[in-house]
Amino acid sequence: MITPDERLVAGETPLLRARGLKKSYGRTEALRGASLDLHKGEILAVTGTSGSGKSTLLHCLAGIVRPDEGVVDYGGEQLDRSSEARLSELRRHDFGVVFQFGQLIPELTALDNVAMPLLLAGARRGPAHQKAGEWLERFGVRGQADLRPGEMSGGQSQRVALARALVTEPKAVFADEPTGALDSLAGEQVMTALVHAARDAGTAVLLITHDAQIAAYADREVWLRDGAVHSAPADGLAREAARHEG
Ligand code: ADP
Ligand code: MG
Repeated sequence: MITPDERLVAGETPLLRARGLKKSYGRTEALRGASLDLHKGEILAVTGTSGSGKSTLLHCLAGIVRPDEGVVDYGGEQLDRSSEARLSELRRHDFGVVFQFGQLIPELTALDNVAMPLLLAGARRGPAHQKAGEWLERFGVRGQADLRPGEMSGGQSQRVALARALVTEPKAVFADEPTGALDSLAGEQVMTALVHAARDAGTAVLLITHDAQIAAYADREVWLRDGAVHSAPADGLAREAARHEG
């Protein structure tokens, strides 16, 4: 397996490259110069305390929120300057997004929820349902195909949400605390399913979490602190400093 460091040595262009992102909400500076690379096919965990700007960073990278300053480069395209139409096209074809909970359409069955992105992208009903069924199968929830979100467990709903995010075979999936509302067993099952599916499809995953056990599923982990991205946790930096001091 190629590690992210080897990729850097090889000079591989990252899938997404964010540099110096700043974003404020009123007087709250959510991001104060955040920089991050997401490599092709890697699973990257972004960890940080509540309010540290994790969701804001994800939204900027996925083209949901425009940063006040800084650059988001996606294959030579500057997303911070792209039109709304282009961003929504990218969200339909190239990116998939999963939130903590509640993002499925309650009136639709699991199968229809997963088929929806394909139908929006212009697929016909038959093939869309066929493919949606295959993705439910991959996430171990084919048996729930005809259930509505209210009839499923939290873990099942999240697996359906992941199937929906991956069904268009995007280049990147952005998952914002996808296991945050689950107990640890359900969380681990969801993560195992996500990691397998992403590896099979070669999809990069930006995984936001504040749970070290969930971050352990990633290839690489970075920490968001004071609105910037760090390659070590706060106590790790303290240990590092203490070592240098003697
Ligand atoms: P995290 O996901 O790490 O909990 P967020 O990115 O959601 O952090 O938020 C970072 C900071 O920005 C917080 O102080 C939060 O209250 C603020 N914030 C985020 N989104 C908004 C918004 N839409 N309006 C006002 N403040 C916001
Ligand atoms: Mg958040």
